[in-house]
Amino acid sequence: MSDPDGAGPAGSRDGGGLPAVTDVVVVGAGITGAAVAHHLARRGASVVVLEQAPRPGAGATGPSGGMVRAYDPDPATAALALAGLAVYRDPAQWASGRAPLRAVGAVTVADPAEEASLRAAAGRINTALGTSAHVVAGPAEAAGVRLAGGVALVEPEAGFVTPAEVTADWLEQARADGAVVRCGVRVRAVEARGGHPVVVTDAGTVRAGAVVSAVGPWAADPVPGLRPAVPVRSRSIQVSIVGRRPDAPAHATFVDLRTGLYAKPVAADRTLIGMPHLVWDAPVDARPDPAHARATLAALTPHFPWLATAPHLDTLRAADAYGPPAEDGGPASGLLTGTGVPRVWAVRGWNGGGVKTAPEAGRRIAAALLADPGGAAHGTGPGDARPGGAGSTTCPGTGP
Ligand SMILES: Cc1cc2nc3c(=O)[nH]c(=O)nc-3n(C[C@H](O)[C@H](O)[C@H](O)COP(=O)(O)OP(=O)(O)OC[C@H]3O[C@@H](n4cnc5c(N)ncnc54)[C@H](O)[C@@H]3O)c2cc1C
Repeated sequence: MSDPDGAGPAGSRDGGGLPAVTDVVVVGAGITGAAVAHHLARRGASVVVLEQAPRPGAGATGPSGGMVRAYDPDPATAALALAGLAVYRDPAQWASGRAPLRAVGAVTVADPAEEASLRAAAGRINTALGTSAHVVAGPAEAAGVRLAGGVALVEPEAGFVTPAEVTADWLEQARADGAVVRCGVRVRAVEARGGHPVVVTDAGTVRAGAVVSAVGPWAADPVPGLRPAVPVRSRSIQVSIVGRRPDAPAHATFVDLRTGLYAKPVAADRTLIGMPHLVWDAPVDARPDPAHARATLAALTPHFPWLATAPHLDTLRAADAYGPPAEDGGPASGLLTGTGVPRVWAVRGWNGGGVKTAPEAGRRIAAALLADPGGAAHGTGPGDARPGGAGSTTCPGTGP
């Protein structure tokens, strides 16, 4: 197409290896950016994914516990999570040909007053997914988890995924559908030029029909042009890995809605444990807090008595983006918010739960962008070129 900036069509390369023009630039190759890019490319949009780190999943996604279950007390999140679990269970959805879900089961513990609503949720989940979710109200234990006075919704068909693997699979699918995936390319600014957003990187510029910012906790302190209209804050998430000796029982993933405590089996001999770490606005790479790690171990011991003698192996600290759903009228209502730049959208904060919702959030965001008469595929003009066939990638683990 004719390009007022003098750049070539999508598929051509400037000195930094980026197309000059594309339908959509996705900033950030965490699980959210990968999901959005996969669904956009599958629907025929030309897509460029830009990730500042040398590999995908370098933000919240890499250290994430990846626990997935259909239940959530918030109805909007529950709808995303239920659809997400269906995708994580389905081998046909993955380039690898394998479903990423490790179905170790999921136990959600709540106050006994919630029993009726948990039973109703179990019914909805089973109707939608054909699963065997049920409520445990009498016994003191379910699937290897002591309930400590609570009632439990048990989802035997839920469990966990490895978020970095999911991210790589979606990026590989996007590349196979024509996307250009670049790691080690930092977005420095997004500007409005000639009616289109132009993404300025340290490897050149890309003019886009639309831009999706999926920069996770970096959205709290964004580069120019990517400031979400609905503010996002960064909140710390810290987890520890402990050894599980052979005499300790196997267990499902676990979340206690009363306390926010959680755990998951990482392998046959180790378990991840976590407790809310209410530290806001700290640097994304802040160091682990040993006092919080000790408090986490003590708080979880009533649920897993074997923790009292379990060896501590490691503590990891990262952060996620926290914020309310977007309500400013952007496409994919509740999932995208505007920024200071026309046709530039930011994803909402996922509040520590972005893995279980990513499959459906990515699908909805892509569908909304492509339906938006003002942006995305409609943005770069009728002569806009698409790379023929497969795209290309510089991100490890996302190529053929
Ligand atoms: C320890 C931990 C445990 C968790 N456990 C669970 C769980 O069990 N279940 C669950 O559902 N969720 C969980 N979460 C939350 C979930 O992992 C996150 O919500 C999700 O990974 C967020 O993904 P994202 O792609 O939005 O952000 P990120 O993974 O942070 O990705 C953002 C990417 O953008 C890149 N980037 C930033 N700025 C730029 C720029 N200027 N230019 C180019 N690239 C840029 C970053 O390098 C990063 O790779 C957990 C999170 C953590 C940290």
